[in-house]
Amino acid sequence: MSIYEELGLKPFINASEPYTRNGGSVMSRQVIEAMAEAAECFVDMGTLICRVAERAAQLSGNDGAFVTSGAGAGVALSAAALLCEANKNEAELLDVLPDTTNVQRNEILIFRGKYLDIIQYWKLIRVSGARLVLVDPTKEAMLEAVNERTAGVFLFPAPMYEEGIPACEEIIPVLKEKGILVAVDAAAQLPPVSNLYYYTRKLGADLAVFSGGKHIKGPQSTGLIVGNRTLTGYCQKLACPNPRLGRAFKVGKEELAGFIKALELFVNESADERYQRQRERLERIQNSLAGIPDVRMELWEKGRLGTEQPLLLVDLPGEKTGEECCRFTRAYQNPVDVGYFKKENGRPGSIFINAYLLKDGEEDAVTDAVRAYLEQ
Ligand SMILES: *Cc1c(COP(=O)(O)O)cnc(C)c1O
Repeated sequence: MSIYEELGLKPFINASEPYTRNGGSVMSRQVIEAMAEAAECFVDMGTLICRVAERAAQLSGNDGAFVTSGAGAGVALSAAALLCEANKNEAELLDVLPDTTNVQRNEILIFRGKYLDIIQYWKLIRVSGARLVLVDPTKEAMLEAVNERTAGVFLFPAPMYEEGIPACEEIIPVLKEKGILVAVDAAAQLPPVSNLYYYTRKLGADLAVFSGGKHIKGPQSTGLIVGNRTLTGYCQKLACPNPRLGRAFKVGKEELAGFIKALELFVNESADERYQRQRERLERIQNSLAGIPDVRMELWEKGRLGTEQPLLLVDLPGEKTGEECCRFTRAYQNPVDVGYFKKENGRPGSIFINAYLLKDGEEDAVTDAVRAYLEQ
């Protein structure tokens, strides 16, 4: 009996995304083994944290890196690092955050936009003690909003989130020209692997944050902060084993070992092979579902957030909704989570199927569940 069965849960196939509510992603054998090895002996945690950070910087192509307990923790710690850097008295700030009562530059600016409702991780900026300031979505308004209380700007890339607001490509270079600190929450903007250094080295952001438990396929409770070494250094000084703000986002030796192994595998995997494998799986599902009356399908070259992964869109007939389809397939005998769009994101009458997390042979189960829904 599996641990999940013992607890009265039934595992399902993930044909959507590495959502947190689905348990993130699944780890490879090598990652699980690294975690098991790490769990069986004692090491000096301070040294382990440093070594993992160094290796993560190297593997991600950045000057600095720090591994924390998730991209959410990464947002909070990055915001704290912006406060330290902007105020030039980090020695004091490291010990007082999240109390910013006597901090001159205690404001972090974000764009006002539809994305604020879609992804609410911007709220975690406040965990650092920073005051959030919402700015109208233009370059000019952002530059005008910067004043003597500004610590920096936080951005949330992806075409879906950047609808109606300046994209990172447009705004980061302008901000950097004025010497304004910038952090980017790119938690789910993978693959391509090159995004691990795109926002920092190519666009010039000071920090970028990624989720370890999504596309990198590390432990669910890991996240990566990359960029400027001084700033990733603040993240580290704020964090465990020091009893400061980041102590609340403790990462165990097991997660550190699992994350760094997963990152190594992720950056070294052939992107073409991975993409082709996913595409073939989606084509197989598409062929099996072809011929069901009134069902239209479309194979997208890119993922929902513009990332490098194919996606199969299935438009459901009549009044059927994607949400209803997912509820059905999740309750099916061999349960499957399919993707769907909420009403505010358009296409409520469709589902999307993502093969990023499908294991060998799971395509058939996906087809069965969706077919059962359509033919009920
Ligand atoms: C998933 C996600 C997060 C949170 O990531 P965790 O690693 O689960 O903490 C933060 N920001 C964005 C944009 C995300 O997509």
